[in-house]
Amino acid sequence: MIQTQTSRDPRAEASPSGRAGRGQDIIGAQISMREVTKKYGAFVAADRISLDVEPGEFITLLGPSGSGKTTLLNLLAGFQRIDGGDILIDGKPITNVPTHRRGFGMVFQSYALFPNMTVAQNVAFPMRMAGLDRATSDRRVAETLEMMRLSEHAAKTPSEMSGGQQQRVAIARAIVMRPRVVLMDEPLSALDRRLRESIQIELRELHQTIGSTILFVTHDQSEALTMSDRIAVLDKGHIIQVDRPLEIYRHPKSRFVAGFVGESNLIEAEVLERRGDTATLRSKAGHVFQAGSRNVPSIGKVTVLIRPERMALHDGPQPGTAPATVTSALFMGETLRIEAAMEGGETLLIRCPDTAARELPAPGSKIHVGWGPQDCWVLA
Ligand code: ADP
Ligand code: MG
Repeated sequence: MIQTQTSRDPRAEASPSGRAGRGQDIIGAQISMREVTKKYGAFVAADRISLDVEPGEFITLLGPSGSGKTTLLNLLAGFQRIDGGDILIDGKPITNVPTHRRGFGMVFQSYALFPNMTVAQNVAFPMRMAGLDRATSDRRVAETLEMMRLSEHAAKTPSEMSGGQQQRVAIARAIVMRPRVVLMDEPLSALDRRLRESIQIELRELHQTIGSTILFVTHDQSEALTMSDRIAVLDKGHIIQVDRPLEIYRHPKSRFVAGFVGESNLIEAEVLERRGDTATLRSKAGHVFQAGSRNVPSIGKVTVLIRPERMALHDGPQPGTAPATVTSALFMGETLRIEAAMEGGETLLIRCPDTAARELPAPGSKIHVGWGPQDCWVLA
């Protein structure tokens, strides 16, 4: 467990509007990106990106490889020069402020620890650079090591530590100065799944404790959903959507977001009728069903998102279900993953919890698939 203790930093500024801190002062800075552009030759890696991050917010840049996440982080860190637009920290432009004066904490995928220094020396390094006195430095190191549950490893060198422990040391080094902003570029992607999940939870708690603004980069959608106050989805140098995790997952604004965050069934359908809160739609295969009327035009075609876990499986026909033929069925432990073709063509992906009552259906067998109007999200 991370201790809920912080040392007060003289630079700390309280802010009422941030999200972290559990009633403590928030030291995190506000970040504003205004039409930030970065080009490599003719290639535009960041295309007029605008994003406001609240003080103390945990925000994640999520996107496929090559979408511009690292580019944006490098511009914030000052590793690369911006070609257009502005980055403001607490309202002040930082374009001409060199990296070491920005005072940000940073964590990368590779732990980048000094191999010949002990854990304590690694964590103390930023304070040595800043010229802090020995007593303050020792106290801060002890506090931070305890926060990261590393106290007992203080005298070890990195080679005597596991990957997960080394990354916790890198995180400790990044936060030891209680920076206003912490930048993290895929810090957990080299770790195995269990370790990743436990450090995800630790990082969330750590964020609550220190109150820094955290800009976290990942290509892993479940990591982004778990950790963030908000997620900014990137594609090809553009921000496609910025929202809370639940909104991103339930109400994606585009096919790209629907497909990149989570698994999706996208059903093309024709609008038969729209009345009040509900719309009646007909899929290409001729299945007539109801959906909420939000985003539904009075006439024409729409794309409907239904998440695989929102699809219910029945052995026999029920009102509103569609018949389908199983094309593949996988037992995955907690869930069954079933693909089924609806009569007339569309293939559905269904995930249902493993229960004692259900056998894994055999390929070729007939099933009946149903969903409710509230399980449909019509893409605008
Ligand atoms: P991500 O971190 O999302 O995987 P990057 O920001 O690293 O993506 O890269 C975005 C795009 O910019 C990619 O197409 C990449 O090839 C290109 N790129 C990144 N750095 C350079 C560079 N120094 N020179 C030329 N192209 C680059
Ligand atoms: Mg990257």
